[in-house]
Amino acid sequence: MNSNVKLGRISGIEIGLHYSWFIIAALIVFSLGEHFRQVNPNWGAGEIWIAALFTAVLFFVTLLLHELAHSLVAQSRGLKVRAITLFALGGVSQIQDDATDAKTEFWVAIAGPIASLIIGFSCLGIALGLGWQRSTEPHTAAIGVLVWLGYINIALAFFNMIPGFPLDGGRVLRSLVWAITKNADRSTRIAARVGQVVAFLFILDGIWRYFSGAGFGLVLDGRSQGQLRRGGDYSCASWHASLRCDVARLRHRGPRNEP
Ligand SMILES: [Zn+2]
Repeated sequence: MNSNVKLGRISGIEIGLHYSWFIIAALIVFSLGEHFRQVNPNWGAGEIWIAALFTAVLFFVTLLLHELAHSLVAQSRGLKVRAITLFALGGVSQIQDDATDAKTEFWVAIAGPIASLIIGFSCLGIALGLGWQRSTEPHTAAIGVLVWLGYINIALAFFNMIPGFPLDGGRVLRSLVWAITKNADRSTRIAARVGQVVAFLFILDGIWRYFSGAGFGLVLDGRSQGQLRRGGDYSCASWHASLRCDVARLRHRGPRNEP
């Protein structure tokens, strides 16, 4: 995937946006606006949309950090990284070379989820430091933003660890099979097979959601199948996870500030 809008370079890696990113960026801002309106009925319209825009920008920054974690670990282990592109379904780190050993595959794959976990817990930690109490709604915009970013990044870490090759979890699984069997090709086949089972479960989940009234889930699930099947790049299904969290939360839990 090539980026249409180039943002610059970090450590020689071209950072860019694909056109499809703009659609999802707008969706995220509106989804966040709705979220803040529901959990903070006392906020004015200005406060809601500034918080939504600001949170969306910070969210994209945290996604970029997730991709950078993959890319910088890859670079440090001698792999060439061409570009990072944010697109409709998340981020892609375009790593030119294949990992030559299981250890490299493992650390490159797990670096992204680890980065998201660290970001997530840091955001929640800062929110607690600012006086947020877990059982209550955030009482300021800053705490609201931090809590949302915290939960969404933790959710992202777990979502990307689902063993659907070539998601991060699939790559981690492949590296573990590789380490045990000492056979790269076999590990790819086994990880791909597990990924197909996961993709099938996603379709079942999507159909279930569709018939239980959450049609949106099916659209996103259907699109994630291509994501799960595409080989090569490190694809991190980030918006997918965040939108699902958001939709599921609004749908099932009502106006609460938890994904
Ligand atoms: Zn990732």
